[in-house]
Amino acid sequence: MTGSSFCKRLAQLNVFLMFVAAGASAQASPQATAPSTSQPAAATATPPAPAAPTRANVLRGAYGPYRVNNDLLSYHLDVRVDPEKQTISGKNSIRFKMLQDGTRIQLDLHPALDIDKILLGAAPLRYVRDSGAVFVDFPDTLHAGQEYTIDFYYSGHPLQTARFGGFTFGKDPAGRPWIYTACEDIGASVWWPNKDQWRDEVENMQISVAIPNGLVDVSNGKFMGKTDLGDGYTRWDWLVQYPINNYDVSLNIGNYVHFSDHLGDLPLDFYVLPEDLDKAKKQFVQAKGMIEAYQHYFGEYPFQKDGYKLIEVPYSGMEHQSAVTYGNHFSNGYLGRDWTGVGVSPKFDFIIIHESGHEWFGNSVSAADRSDMWIHEGWTTYLEVLYVEYTFGHEDAIKYVNGYRSKVQNREPIIAERGIAATPPQDMYFKGALFLNTLRSVVNDDARWFALIHDFYQHFKYQNIMTEDVVAYFNQQTGMDLTPLFDQYLRHTAIPTLELKFNEADGTVDYRWQADEPDFAMPIRVGKKTDWQIIQPTTYWQTLKTPLKKNEFDVATDLYFVNVSKE
Ligand SMILES: [Zn+2]
Repeated sequence: MTGSSFCKRLAQLNVFLMFVAAGASAQASPQATAPSTSQPAAATATPPAPAAPTRANVLRGAYGPYRVNNDLLSYHLDVRVDPEKQTISGKNSIRFKMLQDGTRIQLDLHPALDIDKILLGAAPLRYVRDSGAVFVDFPDTLHAGQEYTIDFYYSGHPLQTARFGGFTFGKDPAGRPWIYTACEDIGASVWWPNKDQWRDEVENMQISVAIPNGLVDVSNGKFMGKTDLGDGYTRWDWLVQYPINNYDVSLNIGNYVHFSDHLGDLPLDFYVLPEDLDKAKKQFVQAKGMIEAYQHYFGEYPFQKDGYKLIEVPYSGMEHQSAVTYGNHFSNGYLGRDWTGVGVSPKFDFIIIHESGHEWFGNSVSAADRSDMWIHEGWTTYLEVLYVEYTFGHEDAIKYVNGYRSKVQNREPIIAERGIAATPPQDMYFKGALFLNTLRSVVNDDARWFALIHDFYQHFKYQNIMTEDVVAYFNQQTGMDLTPLFDQYLRHTAIPTLELKFNEADGTVDYRWQADEPDFAMPIRVGKKTDWQIIQPTTYWQTLKTPLKKNEFDVATDLYFVNVSKE
């Protein structure tokens, strides 16, 4: 697993660092550290040979015939968690509509967990397990257009992966149970049965979690109440009233204390360990400014009825929908560091700003395949930049986003292979954000840009989309052909190079783009910093008259993520 669970994997190195910082080093594997993050942006190292996908990844990643034939409607996950035995048991009631006639559907559950029974009404169903997949067979044909509910009972010891992915039975610093989930990489079926893919989401979900009296469970959605079960356990009921990714579904069980606030009608709820209450009350004030900033650019917080929650966990953080988990030590920057290294990051709490940005991109607008995860991470990293712009101004925003240049590797395309549950490279974060900053410069009209990204979000909210949907929308709204730009930045390793050849005697410069996309064409600001002029280079040579000498001729590389070669 490459660095799972803080919001998603940043560099393995970063994951390793934060893992150590989270005090979980006993489980770390220092050998598995990381590619250097200090390579220059233009590095063109040999791409690593992609590992062949495992059968489990193919079965989990492909949207196969027994997934295509049905559409999820709802889940009710109803489980009991035993901290002493380190077990989970219960059922998921899965409601779905058939889209085609059929007698089989595919669900998923990690082989470490036992299937106790699968019922349609009172009738037990047969099933076949194949690595993580569970093919459920029905004795009679299920008919297109009809809705069905099956109850999938399971139990066992959920896998605790070496890092903080999966399901973890931990202890807080005082030795009390602290149990949490973070499973984006390995998949939600590591701890509960579901249709474990990205394309199809339920419309709503109930989460019921029975835990020993005295502990608190915080899950996604609206808190509906708790019920003493009379056997030493209390059931905590939560209701998710929006579509939700499987991997966002989360249990957080601990000795939490709760405080609350609100932003207009939006309830803000915070859950932390008692010893951290004072620190949290100061640090979590930033949640309001964050929500205001994102609402300014994109519109209303997407999960208004479910509220917004921040929940303390021992790993750095994860964007669990309406229940964002937080482990940034109640201080600004990222785990005590200046994250982009240019003095802006220490002004805010990176985890609050980044993980919560995913409520708009990742949780509301979602990718339909992990291959296109830049829709989550590139956009959310760009949302950090917008937060900085809204809060601290444009100059800081440009500094901040360009601080990400040193983290870009350009070793693999941002979009990974589809249908195999592949994890794209970390460039999806940093290069993704730098690309969006570039696109803003291409649009070259801030009012138009802000309207465009607002409308883009509004158009696709609560949907699962692919890059093609993004490109088609931007092309249609701008009237430009941006396909070669998207393709160059997302489907190739290299960024474009602006080639400049000066003829100072003639007072001219020849210019063209060197790019993998033959039709790559992108306007760019060149000349004097105080008085840019926009040229329209393509992959063919053109000539510009300029009084500027080679060493006086600048390119606005803080506004466009490109290389420049001068001769
Ligand atoms: Zn993220």
